[in-house]
Amino acid sequence: METGDRPQCSDECREALRRLGALLDGELGEVTQAKLEHHLADCEPCTERRDFEEGFRELVRRGCTDEAPPDLRARILSQLDEIVTG
Ligand SMILES: [Zn+2]
Repeated sequence: METGDRPQCSDECREALRRLGALLDGELGEVTQAKLEHHLADCEPCTERRDFEEGFRELVRRGCTDEAPPDLRARILSQLDEIVTG
């Protein structure tokens, strides 16, 4: 896989990152989800973000974040926010 020229800030990426939450929540329509997954398959940075957010949500689901300090959670969430808003 070529990683030399990462399409990091394209509109497509912004759109994809904006929809990550909905994707992980299963809230996207079939067509939108297929498009997004197609983009993720092609785009390493977006895939990394997806994996990051997926992992974070997994933690939340397991309740592990009860043990995480609130400021750590806040930091992760604001990091995610920065990623999405660029
Ligand atoms: Zn992308």
